[in-house]
Amino acid sequence: MNRYDVIVVGGGISGLMTALAIGKHGKQVLVLEERSLPGGNCNSYMVDSFQVDTGPHAITGLTHGPLRQIINEYLDYTPVFLTYGTYFVRTSKGLTNIPSNIAEFVGFDVLPRRDRIMVSQAITKALTLTSFGVDTSAQSVHDFLPGNLSTQSIEFADAICHLLTGRSMRETSVHRVLAGSNFVDDEVKEDTNHSTLTEQLTSRITRLSRLATNRVSKSQAYVRGGLKSFLNAVIYSMPKNVEIRTNQRVNKILTSDGIVVGVETDDESFTCDVVVYSGFAKQLPCMVNELPEQYISNLGRIAQSKSLTAWIGLSHEMPEFNYIGSEMWFQKHAYWAMPISNYTDGLAPKGKQLVGFTFVVDETKTIESEKRKAMDTIVEAVPRIEQFIEMEHYQIATPEKASVTINGYIAENRTPVKNLYLVGTDTDRRSMGITRAGYSVLNVLKLLKNDGYLK
Ligand SMILES: Cc1cc2nc3c(=O)[nH]c(=O)nc-3n(C[C@H](O)[C@H](O)[C@H](O)COP(=O)(O)OP(=O)(O)OC[C@H]3O[C@@H](n4cnc5c(N)ncnc54)[C@H](O)[C@@H]3O)c2cc1C
Repeated sequence: MNRYDVIVVGGGISGLMTALAIGKHGKQVLVLEERSLPGGNCNSYMVDSFQVDTGPHAITGLTHGPLRQIINEYLDYTPVFLTYGTYFVRTSKGLTNIPSNIAEFVGFDVLPRRDRIMVSQAITKALTLTSFGVDTSAQSVHDFLPGNLSTQSIEFADAICHLLTGRSMRETSVHRVLAGSNFVDDEVKEDTNHSTLTEQLTSRITRLSRLATNRVSKSQAYVRGGLKSFLNAVIYSMPKNVEIRTNQRVNKILTSDGIVVGVETDDESFTCDVVVYSGFAKQLPCMVNELPEQYISNLGRIAQSKSLTAWIGLSHEMPEFNYIGSEMWFQKHAYWAMPISNYTDGLAPKGKQLVGFTFVVDETKTIESEKRKAMDTIVEAVPRIEQFIEMEHYQIATPEKASVTINGYIAENRTPVKNLYLVGTDTDRRSMGITRAGYSVLNVLKLLKNDGYLK
């Protein structure tokens, strides 16, 4: 059968969650994925007896966020989420907890005392402004922080920005850092106009109180069994009316009189009423004819970054990685690392350990030189590691289809073509990664309901 109600282009986690939800509403759905396996960036696979993920992952917003809603409404079973643990910063002296709130920041002796006081004042000001409704999403971290910080503090702030957006502190907004560090909720309230003065005041006080009580890792987790366990739960929950075909690259999205009519792969054409496209929105102009000029130009402004993850399989468990959570290294060449085998059995052979180190790729350099720089940094951070390296495996990926930068564009879920919708991390600026994808999926479902397509 070549006719479907809905075709989802791309079988990454956003495409699959969309297909799952639409399928559970009774529609005939086809997912077309160009790779040999579904999952996109949300997957795990074996390398020499170690099970690596596609990058080290912290799944966020699990208490009230979009994934909770998707899990509750559409998944047949809930994967087991393991408490995320602690965020550390590593220096030549070892590990120190990353501060979650102002009290902790003031005592954070990795940075000079004078800088800590100035940065605490800046955070307090940013949160106060946000609490009183001032939009800080166009203000760069670079411009907001005091200009006379030490190099060390600037490197620290820059590393945090790179880890949150893939971009520098000049391109990262104050709002992004507040949201990414849990000081403000990313959720956009449906309708705040009706809240009373008392409710508004309570909400402001609650936000400000986070200066003292915030916890960065609140409501975050790693999935037992590795990242693929989340993917497996989504695939297992697919109803029979959802078909997934792999090795199928969609080359064209077909339209007639400004309305979607189907898609075309190398071998076949399919007709349908609705297409949900979960590939890079930036590539849409190559796939759809006659998009408006302004729309094409906006999509061209989407900012992206690439990551390099070095998975290191260790022949022995090292005391340096004897923790649950993740660590950041911020000097010169920043990384974010997670010893994922500490969470759950089976990711490394017994007695061995698996650690993933993620760097932002400098796209002016070759991949080979970036790999060498990554290994040099890892050895600089944890000198003893060299004796225990049993496996090295590198991944290059685009973690999010759009970086949330000050001037970058985020596409809307609705397109100028009727019945063509976009889903994925380049269509929502809230939260990060899989959770961001979750927000986007919920928004597409809402549009499909508003457009009378889903009940
Ligand atoms: C190093 C790294 C660390 C990360 N850390 C975290 C984290 O800590 N927490 C978190 O939540 N997220 C994290 N992420 C991000 C998260 O994995 C992704 O945001 C999420 O998996 C993206 O899902 P997606 O479906 O939107 O996109 P993708 O995974 O990119 O899926 C898109 C799919 O569409 C397919 N496709 C594209 N075009 C076509 C076409 N024309 N025809 C057919 N198929 C097509 C692709 O092959 C792909 O499978 C991280 C990612 C990386 C790489």
